[in-house]
Amino acid sequence: MKAEILSIGTELLLGDIVNTNARFLASQLAAAGVEVYHQSVVGDNAIRLAEQLKESFSRSQLVITTGGLGPTYDDLTKEVAADFFGRKLVENAEILRWLEQRFQNLGCPMTPNNRKQAMIPQGAQILENPNGTAPGIWLEDGEKILVLLPGPPREMEPMFLNQVMPRLQKATGKVICSSTVHLFGIGESAVEDRLRQMMVESQNPTVAPYAKQGEVQLRITAMSDSLDGAQALIAPVRDKICQDFGPLVYGVDVGSLQNALVQALTANHRKVAVAESCTGGMISQRITQIPGSSAVFDCGVCTYANHIKSQLVGVSPEDLEQYGAVSQQVALQMARGVRQLAGADIGISTTGIAGPGGGTPQKPVGLVYVGVSCEGFEQVIKLNLQSQATDAREDIRYKASSHGLYLALEAARRLGAK
Ligand code: ATP
Ligand code: MG
Repeated sequence: MKAEILSIGTELLLGDIVNTNARFLASQLAAAGVEVYHQSVVGDNAIRLAEQLKESFSRSQLVITTGGLGPTYDDLTKEVAADFFGRKLVENAEILRWLEQRFQNLGCPMTPNNRKQAMIPQGAQILENPNGTAPGIWLEDGEKILVLLPGPPREMEPMFLNQVMPRLQKATGKVICSSTVHLFGIGESAVEDRLRQMMVESQNPTVAPYAKQGEVQLRITAMSDSLDGAQALIAPVRDKICQDFGPLVYGVDVGSLQNALVQALTANHRKVAVAESCTGGMISQRITQIPGSSAVFDCGVCTYANHIKSQLVGVSPEDLEQYGAVSQQVALQMARGVRQLAGADIGISTTGIAGPGGGTPQKPVGLVYVGVSCEGFEQVIKLNLQSQATDAREDIRYKASSHGLYLALEAARRLGAK
């Protein structure tokens, strides 16, 4: 099947944002055995969009667009698409109800322009959007298939994987299946360097790295006539990667560090408690994102001020005075103290300098201590998380929280089942 990707948005033409949607779709479609021969970008302009649709469908069976599905006046993808196929836009009661419910839950009134999001071209299928308000559209017209996806990547990517991919599989008669190896403690370029040969040579399955703030995920994707066939292609490659990267692999198909941690704690009947300073509750937040975390998460305390570090989790005031709040000694006492406070199996702590102010030559911005305490094992790691990111403070805090989760995971595995 010949396909093309059409990215819609004036921001893209002006270079305000990078067209990551096209990259995502291109790699996914390639892995799915769909041939992509063209990619184009048009601004939020009805005439040029219509022209582009005409040109694209003159040479391709499938066109996937992203962007311009929202409620505002410049969002005109649906209108132009409906017009292109000579379909009317009709109000869809199901979407309208869903939108009203969503706004009601949010406690804010639904403005009239939001109704526009319930309009779909006659005869189209709806692609639900659990991560936003604009639904996607799957529209068939004879041989032609037009798929309209929202612009925000966090809405577009799951919609594509969960709703477009299965429909494409049906259309191509192939099964695509993938498995993700999660790595922590290694950078994307180092991973790529070690895997370059495999990534270049391997066509089915394909191996693609995704860097995610201090983590790397390797997605192995195979195509076959059956699910068993696809899985059989994936297995040896996945095993080899796990063997090669050894302890850097924290899980396979585990979703995220916090999910891996909650799974390990649940399996081992262990509980964790957290005392956070520079991460300000981020570790607690990430753990409690996971359904079922109440069974394994005892408490998270944000011990920001020194006197609270002493009062709540028993850090020695003398050590605070002597070594400073950002120190190995204080991190260890915080981890120990919170474990004791909660009566948990594992205590985790963070203390550091997230910046942009507050750094000194001895203790620069990005210096973070992460502590762990459990029976028979205590450790403090010293991190240098200096960041060039524009949101450096957030970047440092997030990476520190990841290290905390990773240490907790190590402790949970080390402790084993109760
Ligand atoms: P919304 O309901 O948010 O308006 P939309 O479907 O109308 O969604 P756009 O308004 O076109 O989409 O884009 C919304 C945001 O999505 C952009 O500001 C940008 O952050 C992101 N985005 C859009 N297109 C792309 C793209 N091709 N690559 C990466 N990000 C994109
Ligand atoms: Mg929009």
